[in-house]
Amino acid sequence: MLDPSRTVAELRELRELTGDENGAQRVAWTDTWERARTWLREKLDGLPLEHEIDEAGNQWWTLSGGSERAVLIGGHIDSVPNGGWLDGALNVVAGVEVVRRLASEGEPTATVRLVEWADEEGARFGRSLFGSSAAAGSMADQDELQERRDGDGVALPDAIGAHGVSLDGALEARRQLKGAAAYLELHIEQGPVLESLDLPLGVVLGTFGVERHQVTFRGQAAHAGSTPMDARRDALAGAAKLELELREIAGRVGDGAVCTMGGVVTRPGIVTSVVETAECLLDQRHLDAVNLAELRSNAEAASRRFAEEEGLEVEWERIWNIEPILFDEELISLADEAVVEVAGQSHQLPSGPLHDAAEVARAGVPTVMLFVQSLRGLSHTKLEDTREEHLELSVQALDRLADKTIARVAGAGG
Ligand SMILES: [Zn+2]
Repeated sequence: MLDPSRTVAELRELRELTGDENGAQRVAWTDTWERARTWLREKLDGLPLEHEIDEAGNQWWTLSGGSERAVLIGGHIDSVPNGGWLDGALNVVAGVEVVRRLASEGEPTATVRLVEWADEEGARFGRSLFGSSAAAGSMADQDELQERRDGDGVALPDAIGAHGVSLDGALEARRQLKGAAAYLELHIEQGPVLESLDLPLGVVLGTFGVERHQVTFRGQAAHAGSTPMDARRDALAGAAKLELELREIAGRVGDGAVCTMGGVVTRPGIVTSVVETAECLLDQRHLDAVNLAELRSNAEAASRRFAEEEGLEVEWERIWNIEPILFDEELISLADEAVVEVAGQSHQLPSGPLHDAAEVARAGVPTVMLFVQSLRGLSHTKLEDTREEHLELSVQALDRLADKTIARVAGAGG
């Protein structure tokens, strides 16, 4: 029988084992991380599961079922330094409870696999989603990672090598997603939306697409004392107008659109000169690709208008982008059913942060995530927390969702 209170007790046990007064210390590729992984193995000892650690360091437990088509439940046990007790760990520890319940009922109609992804956070080497991107086959930066070092000068290949992983072999983990028919991930929200709606649980529609640009306004440096106000070409004026216009643009496009000017560097940057160049860092996000493109083109048009008004030139350069990743519609409706059954009401929302689920979805595996409310929207800090009754509801919802998905996958044959 499912015992959600055991999940909460085990999460506390993990916190005692791998945290200190500053928070969780389960940084990937460290001894503390391995201690957490060993602890997880011990929790599943004695169950009829096949265990393996793949070439990317991901840890798998397989409960064979009537169909080889597999329902995957996944999360990560690594944390950022001084992290929260629930980020990542909730999904794997809740998954343990679901697998226990399923194993106690004999062979399920479809195969069920629990996966603990290696290095989701990228806290030590600045490379997030390591294990899941290897399994998804989207990891393509091995050459760059060869050179990566942590703050103490330790090279990434040496650090992962100490845990039996090599950059050359990591992509072999791709075989793990063969036969995967669905991927389920429960996570804390890490934001304030569910709390503001007073709802314990939500269903995630996908992860935001992101457009990042450097926008540079160019004017003319001129003496702050001798240049009349109407004779200036002040680059900062263009940047300032654009920053305020972003609110209008995000509001107009709507549906959760967010735009952030994260930094402006002005030159010459002295008090006695009109600003000649203003370099702005712009981050825009949306769940819908068309809306995301509209955010970008609206901001670009606005920047040209402000440049014209202020006698400036403006230049756009893309720094980074990623497409929105949408989760599976059928799984979203099963997840909605599961949430309604345990909590009475569901809410659909996008995810701002990326998760391992995004990599799995990108690889073509039907995917969905459940979010459980985060108190005060805080995460990546020891202050991260969720009400105990909400944690228990989240385990129940994952369990219901697993059952519904297994039935769907087994019913689809194959
Ligand atoms: Zn996480």
